[in-house]
Amino acid sequence: MLDYKNKSASVQNREKSKKRAAELKESIREYMEARENIEVGLQMQEQYQRNKEQIKDYFEATEEQWQDWQWQVENRICDEKELSHFLKLSSKEKEEIREIGTRYRWSVSPYYLSLMDRENPQCPVRKQAIPSILELNDEFGQLDPMAEDETSPAAAVTRRYPDRLIINVTNKCAMYCRHCQRRRNIGEVDYGTPGESIKEALDYVRKNEEIRDVLLTGGDAFMLSNEEIDWLLTELGEISHVEIKRLGTRVLVTMPMRVDDELCSILEKHEAVYVNTQFNHPKEITQESRLACRKLAKAGIPLGNQAVLLRDINNNPHVMKKLNQELLKISVKPYYIFHSKRVKGTSHFRTPVEDGMEIMEHLRGQTSGMAIPTFIINAPKGSGKTPMLPEYLVSMSSGKLFIRNWEKKIFEYTNPKS
Ligand code: SF4
Repeated sequence: MLDYKNKSASVQNREKSKKRAAELKESIREYMEARENIEVGLQMQEQYQRNKEQIKDYFEATEEQWQDWQWQVENRICDEKELSHFLKLSSKEKEEIREIGTRYRWSVSPYYLSLMDRENPQCPVRKQAIPSILELNDEFGQLDPMAEDETSPAAAVTRRYPDRLIINVTNKCAMYCRHCQRRRNIGEVDYGTPGESIKEALDYVRKNEEIRDVLLTGGDAFMLSNEEIDWLLTELGEISHVEIKRLGTRVLVTMPMRVDDELCSILEKHEAVYVNTQFNHPKEITQESRLACRKLAKAGIPLGNQAVLLRDINNNPHVMKKLNQELLKISVKPYYIFHSKRVKGTSHFRTPVEDGMEIMEHLRGQTSGMAIPTFIINAPKGSGKTPMLPEYLVSMSSGKLFIRNWEKKIFEYTNPKS
């Protein structure tokens, strides 16, 4: 009798479970259909290879040169005539690119160029790299929304928090992204931060024992030579109160050949080194970027991604979910999604804050916790990263919100229209 009862309960439970499983299956159907139309770089290798061969032919470059990051830097494309050999551009577009170049510099590594759709100006890779006339029509952007000038207690240092700071080690990047949130630092010419300024920054860290976490960025920290990176990590490693060193770089996306064996051995030798990067679309995840991430992971370096929420590039829950899932496959943990700041020349990339909240709503429960980053608004004037969680959102109405930062200070924040 007892057995019969148990059997009957178990059959009932199995039926309930099946019903629930069918509901779960149904709830993910929309994403399963949508993801078929999302371009993922790892599935586009043939097209990338064709583009690469065309670019190599143009430069009369060997495979060895292509794989050399210094060659990639020296041959960055920064001229609309050269660009038009690879992308279909109307005369108007060429004229506009030339005009924008007089105001804001731009350049693209041959590698990143090889990921672009030749015909389609809406290609999410192309939009991040090729200037748009909208950059010049930006009424809302500000030159220094983070008030970096007011948060720099020593040369090359940005300090916004009690126990950590940034050292800006260079203004160079493999590519000058159109949405760059540090556009002000990028300026008009490449320069490494002078040795004197770096020494002043290190001295500042030495004298302030509460600083336990130092982020090397710029620009792009991996644009420094291997020797310079080794030297900086050694200097920081010798400061007993510095517990962790972080490097900010986008080369995993824009020039993955930078991650050479020597760099990996250098990073491996230093303790508690973390690398954060910025993949914004699954199309950027390629065999080359996968290999670079794998090499870093093998060297024991934890990798995090700090995506920027960008209009018509990734402000879509399905695209962002696919991006985060693909990142985990290449050993990169989705860490942040940033709402883009009001940086002059980039307002056309800004989306309503609601887009980010919808993405977060869509991710929670729908995918592994590992694939869920934190959605962040940078409070005005360098007042800190503010997660978009109920306790930090004081109120929200059309056109503006009030947010609370980590110091419990309240800020008004402009919300772009949809
Ligand atoms: S790599 Fe980073 S710092 Fe450099 S231009 Fe792109 S977003 Fe800006």
